[in-house]
Amino acid sequence: MRTIRNPVRGAGHRCRSAVVAAALGLCLSACAGGPVPAPLASGLAMLVGAGTALHLWSDEGVPPTVPLSPEAFQPGQVTWLGHSGFLVRLGGQSILVDPVLEPGDDGLPWIIRQVERVGQPADLSGLDRLDAVLVTHDHSDHQHDPTLRVLAARFPQALLVYPAGARPSAAGFARRQAIAEGARLGLGSLRIETIPVQHLGRMQPGQRPVAFAPALGYALIAPEGRVIALGDTARDGRFVDVGRRLGPFDLALVPIGGGDPAVAVGHLHASPEDAVQIALDLRARRAVPHHWGAFLFTPRSPGETLARFRAAAEGRLPVELPPVGGSVPIRRAR
Ligand SMILES: [Zn+2]
Ligand SMILES: [Zn+2]
Repeated sequence: MRTIRNPVRGAGHRCRSAVVAAALGLCLSACAGGPVPAPLASGLAMLVGAGTALHLWSDEGVPPTVPLSPEAFQPGQVTWLGHSGFLVRLGGQSILVDPVLEPGDDGLPWIIRQVERVGQPADLSGLDRLDAVLVTHDHSDHQHDPTLRVLAARFPQALLVYPAGARPSAAGFARRQAIAEGARLGLGSLRIETIPVQHLGRMQPGQRPVAFAPALGYALIAPEGRVIALGDTARDGRFVDVGRRLGPFDLALVPIGGGDPAVAVGHLHASPEDAVQIALDLRARRAVPHHWGAFLFTPRSPGETLARFRAAAEGRLPVELPPVGGSVPIRRAR
C-alpha cells in the first residue's frame, strides 16, 4: 500500500492554520461535554485544537516502522500496524482491527484533515488473506474509508464488522455486519464478543436531541488465546465485569493517547495511567499500547505519552512494545 506523506510544516501552511484552528476549536468544543463546566472544557479543547492545527506539538518519540516479517502471518500473532490498527491471527482467522493504511481523506471533514500524521503505517501489501475487518467506531482515525475500499478490492469476501449506528461508506465488501453492544459473532473457531466502551462516534445528522454513533471494543476468543482490542475509550467501571466474565486475556490492546487535557477530553479517552488500570481491570496478562505516535492531536509528544505508560505499568503490568509492523505472540511461555 502507498506511503502516507507528512504535510509540510511551513509558513504558508500556518496562514491557513490560523483559520483552521478556530474552526477546529469550535468543533472540539461541541464534542467536549464532560463533567466539568462547559466553558472550561470548551476553552481547553479549543486551545488543544489550535495547537494541533498550527502543528505546535512535538513529534519527539515517533515509533519506527519496519517491514512485516513472515511471523505476522503465523497463527497466534498480533502485529501493530500503527495508531490503533492491528493484524490478529487467531482461531484460524486473519483479522484486521481499525486499519488506517492508505493516504486519502475523502469523507473526512476538512478541519480534521489538518491533523498531522507523523508516524508511518505498516505496509500490508504482502497480506496473504483477510477474513474480517473489525471497526470499533466511525471516527476517521479508526474507520478509514479509503483504507476499507482498498481492502475490499483485494479481499471482497472478507466480512466488515462495525457498531450498529456507524455508517462505513466503504463499498466492495460482499459481507457487512452491523453489531450491537453485547452481541457475539462466530468465525470458525474464533468467537468475537462486543465490549462496551466509554466513547462516542460521529454526531448523527438530523437527530433530536443530538445523538452520536456508538463505539465498541472486541474480545477475540479462541482455544489458543484471548485478545481484547479496545479502540478509543476512557476508563469504564464495566471493564471489571468484562474481565471477570471473559478474562483473563493473554493480550490487551489499550489506547494510551488522546486523553489530554483530561478535564476536556478525559471522559472520552484514557490517560496513559488509566490505560494501565484498564488492562488490569480486564485481567490482562500483558498489554500493547496503541493510539499514540501517529497523529499529533494532543500537547503530549509520542515519547512522553509512552514514557508515562511505561512508568505506570512498571512492576504491575508486563508491556509489549513492538515497532510499527512488528509482531508479538498472543501467548508467551512463562
Ligand atoms: Zn474516537
Ligand atoms: Zn481515536
